[in-house]
Amino acid sequence: MVEDEPKAAAYLRQGLTESGYTVEVALTGTDGLHAAANGDHDLVILDVMLPGIDGFTVLSALRTARQTPVLMLTARDRLDDKVRGFDLGADDYLVKPFQFPELLARVRTLLKRGQAQPVDPVMRVADLEIDAVRHRATRSGQRIDLSAKEFALLSLLMQRAGQVLSRTQIASLVWDIHFDSDTNVVEVAIRRLRAKIDDPFQQKLIHTVRGVGYVLERRA
Ligand code: CA
Repeated sequence: MVEDEPKAAAYLRQGLTESGYTVEVALTGTDGLHAAANGDHDLVILDVMLPGIDGFTVLSALRTARQTPVLMLTARDRLDDKVRGFDLGADDYLVKPFQFPELLARVRTLLKRGQAQPVDPVMRVADLEIDAVRHRATRSGQRIDLSAKEFALLSLLMQRAGQVLSRTQIASLVWDIHFDSDTNVVEVAIRRLRAKIDDPFQQKLIHTVRGVGYVLERRA
């Protein structure tokens, strides 16, 4: 999500996270373009009015590199803006102010369109299952209560099952904090998550990769 208003960005991020998505926020067009062109995102939510390089410029530069679906946000309900956005390769357009469910509906539609198969909101690794739409996690059929952040963290680990994620990546994708210094926020959250999803069960799914980070996978 490229949105320069921190309050709006935080609000949308929270809503999307609670709906099971992992959100990376960029507050400027330059950062947004860099992230969108170099990262592996399923969707870009792009505000038009940005300081420095605006949303149209970001979109046209991005389209030379990637075909990631783009949902544009604007405060201006002007036909020529819409036409310009679509001409540059935007996939959808939403005029501010909008209700959050409206954004969520567009996001779901765009994500479905981008995939060959219908989106299954349920992810499974071994006997662990999470349902992003119903915001529910179960293991061996037992319901596990998770906080919003724990759910976001588990969603991320499951989406990237089998891939090692560094603490820095996790902190940036789940908490939107970009730190150089030591912070144990990730370790504390992993410990809490393990207490819920691994400790009561014989087969452990979250593994520590020393000096690197964490991976969620089924191991023999
Ligand atoms: Ca703006």
